[in-house]
Amino acid sequence: MKRLCVYCGSNTGNREEYVVAAEALAAALVARNIGLVYGGASRGIMGALADSMRASGGEVIGIIPEALMHKEISHPNLTELRVVDSMHARKAMMAELADGFIALPGGFGTLEELVEVLTWAQLEFHSKPCGLLNIAGYYTSLLEFFDHASNEGFVRTQHRGMVLTATDADSLLDQFISYKPPIVSKWV
Ligand code: AMP
Repeated sequence: MKRLCVYCGSNTGNREEYVVAAEALAAALVARNIGLVYGGASRGIMGALADSMRASGGEVIGIIPEALMHKEISHPNLTELRVVDSMHARKAMMAELADGFIALPGGFGTLEELVEVLTWAQLEFHSKPCGLLNIAGYYTSLLEFFDHASNEGFVRTQHRGMVLTATDADSLLDQFISYKPPIVSKWV
């Protein structure tokens, strides 16, 4: 894995653990010589992650839509900042550049991005690993909902299994390395 895309909050959340987890993920990525692709912002968990990567010499490519850039929140110290026309162009470029996708705690934007790459995976548009870091139980109720969706016949068991989950970065990255995409049709 050369680069991973990380989706995460443009706010820091209310617990110190969320920022600490972003810093730990940055350290784990740099230790494995894996670069970061992310939304290019300087705020929130996004900013904390990018700052930590850069402070330890990691590669960071930020991809930001022009409209957000002009609100002056783009990160000033990335390896590369790519400015694109729209959120759709940004997500497509993030997906193309990365070898896998991780969600740290975040809000609607983070959820939307994670669920989009999972959707693309179940349609076999890509076969890259997708997972989340369940920090301080933040995603426990979402994972329970995914179980519910599977039990109710809307998500195949094999597709539910694509959501790799860990509470620490190294365990998640180990799962990414051994990930094999399911070979099954989307339709239950
Ligand atoms: P949220 O979880 O709602 O805070 O949104 C964070 C996610 O949406 C990130 O993964 C970004 O790709 C995108 N995003 C939301 N707000 C911003 C912002 N101000 N600057 C850059 N990207 C953002």
